[in-house]
This record gives sequence, structure tokens and C-alpha cells, in this order.
Amino acid sequence: MRVPGNSKYVKKINRMAVINAIKAHEPISRQQLAEVTGLTAPAITGIIRELLDMGIVIEVGLDKSTGGRRPINLCINPDAGYVFGVEVTRFESFVGTCDLKNDPTDFRTLKIDMTEPKEGIKELAAAIKRFMNEERYKKKTFLGVGVAFPGLLNVPEGIVKRSINLGHNWDTFPVKRALEEELGMHVFIENNSKASALAERWFGGGTGCKDLVYVNLGEGISAGVIINDRILQGVHGHAGEIGHMSIQEAGPLCNCGNRGCLESICGIPAIMRMAKAELTKIPDDDPLKKVWLGKGEFSIEDIIKSSCTKNSYSHELLKQAAVYIGKAIANVINFYNPECVFIGGKMAAAAEYSMDVIKSTVRSHAFPVIALSTDIQISSLKEKAGIMGACALVLRDLFKPDSDMLEDVEQAFSK
Ligand SMILES: [Zn+2]
Repeated sequence: MRVPGNSKYVKKINRMAVINAIKAHEPISRQQLAEVTGLTAPAITGIIRELLDMGIVIEVGLDKSTGGRRPINLCINPDAGYVFGVEVTRFESFVGTCDLKNDPTDFRTLKIDMTEPKEGIKELAAAIKRFMNEERYKKKTFLGVGVAFPGLLNVPEGIVKRSINLGHNWDTFPVKRALEEELGMHVFIENNSKASALAERWFGGGTGCKDLVYVNLGEGISAGVIINDRILQGVHGHAGEIGHMSIQEAGPLCNCGNRGCLESICGIPAIMRMAKAELTKIPDDDPLKKVWLGKGEFSIEDIIKSSCTKNSYSHELLKQAAVYIGKAIANVINFYNPECVFIGGKMAAAAEYSMDVIKSTVRSHAFPVIALSTDIQISSLKEKAGIMGACALVLRDLFKPDSDMLEDVEQAFSK
């Protein structure tokens, strides 16, 4: 345990306070930093000298003079380090990267079969290494890899407990350790919906709010809840499983073993099942029926696409789903009173067409004062939310008072 009086620890905390103050107020002078952090001018001078040597901070010209010598402004050096984000799914993993200041970029899709954890991790790590070794990144220092993972996780120990998306081979698999061994760098894991909530907070519509909920509508349904700027984990890290909110007393059987869960009615497999069962009853001139008559099959994308035609079968089907989703969101906002709810995941594209239904259902089922004060919107991060959240996991750790990653930056710059 770290003792608060330990001078090395105090130094680390002060250094991080200065870094965070620069990040929040840049460009900023040494004098302004002393005012913002409450540290003395000599302390600021010492810390800044260190951060300049480490390459984390750069001097960027002169501020306006308030009489006397014009002070030099300081900024975070975006090039001091890079982080890598991965979102894992069964057959495709999505990756991207960002520096210390800018939003993630360079998004790519890797076709990797992740049904077998050991082989999957080896292949994923090899692909990440190839990416980092490309000419444009060769001289960059990667500080860590964040991984957004589908399923129930033990985050502190980096272990998968259960992943319906990836299958039972992943039960109890130490994903963090396995990746760290392959890559030789820090790896941070988080459930994909919780990581997406973090992405909204860092890079999306939630940069100004400390209390938000991200609802992930996909194969499964789950949420990431951020309260007072912390991801709500619960005692075992399973908080946010709104897909298993009981919606219909004797509804369809769910993956969890219960009946009538939200996910068993509004998850992608449930919607596909319902459309397939009702297809024969749909008129031939319906857009979805036309797809089926033409190809002999249809996908969830076809349902989403045809749902933009008012009165079409898909429109009505997804409107029905939107009522259930609205009820679930009403319950969630009654519990947590977030400032904003972001709807993301593959089905968010469909939610765009039925947003009025979702909002009116929330209004009629949530406590009125809470409903009125909650903004509900479609996530602007779209399919990038998982990767961006994975990058944010690393950045969040880097800017923590007791982060060890600054030493990595220092080492890289002293080479
Ligand atoms: Zn369930």
C-alpha cells in the first residue's frame, strides 16, 4: 500500500496534477499553472523541467504579457505516446489508435476467428504487432493496449468469466495476461458496453457530463453506466446487464435461462427470429418481403434498411421493439438519474427511425421530473465506440495519479 506521506508518491501526484491541469487548460503558462494547481512557483518550475525532459510537455510560444516578460505557454506533446484500442467480436476485431491529445484514428477491421482463445489471442497479438511496426508508427512509443470485450469479465484480474458472443471456450480465460505476454506491454480490458460508455465520456457527446448511460443494442443488450465520472461495476463487475431486465412474464427463453428478458425480445437474434416466423404473412410488395423473394434470405441490415419505409413490416416490428427499449430506458433513468442516455450498437441505426417512440415511451413510463431532465440521443461514435473506449481505458490509466506509464514515456524519450 502507498503511504500518503511518502515523498515519492506526493511528487507523482503533484506531477500528475500539473499534467492534468495542462491538459484541461492548454496552452497555459507556468504562472497560470501555479494558480490552477495551488502549487508554488518553484515547485511548478521543477515539475515542468522534468516533464519537458520526459517529452510529455512542449513549449509553444509566448502568452500575452500582463506587464513584464511575456510568459511561455505549455502544451501536452501529443507525440509523447500512442495508445492502441481493440474491440473483440467472434469473427472480426476492430482496432484503432490515438495519441495523447487527439481522438482515435486509423480504424481497421481484422478478420480473426476468436472462438478458440489461445489461437485467437496469438493471431490478434500478431496483427497488433504488425500494425505497430508499420513505417508510420515505427518511431512512436505505444504505451498500452485497451481491449473492449464482449461478456462478463473480472476486470481487476483480467479474466473472462463468460462470453455468450465468443462461446464457452473463453470461460475463466486470463485474457489480459495472455495478451500482455504476447505483446510485452500494458493491457487494459473492459466489457464492451462499459468501454463504449467511457468513449462517450472522453470522445463523444458526453465530454461535458459525469453521469451518463450507454445502451448497447446488438446481438445482446447491455449498458455501461457512468456515475460521478466512474464506471459503475457492482460487486462482481456485472452492473449494467439491462438486457436481462424482465419485460414479459412468460416471454421467450433467454440465454440467461430466464424468460421474457429484454434481450430475448429485442436482441438481434430475437428480431430475426420473429421476422422469419412472420414472413409468410407479409404482403409481397413489402420492402423486406421483396428482399426475401429476390435473395431467398434477409439479414438484420435488410430489416434496418427497410424500417425507414413508414408502415412497412420492419418499421412496425422495430417500433414494437422500441416500446420495450423505451420502457427499459425509463427504468434505468429512474434508477440512476443520468444527464444523458446514448443509444449505440448495431441496432442504433434502427433506433434512429423509432426515436420518437423510444422518447414518448420513456416520457410515459419514467418519473416525469427525471424524464424531463434526461437527454436521450443516438451515439455519434457509431461502430467506433468500442475501439474508442478501449483507447480511453489506456488514457484514463495514463492520467491517473499513480500511473506507472509515465516511466515508459520517460524511458522512450531517453533512448
Ligand atoms: Zn436474460
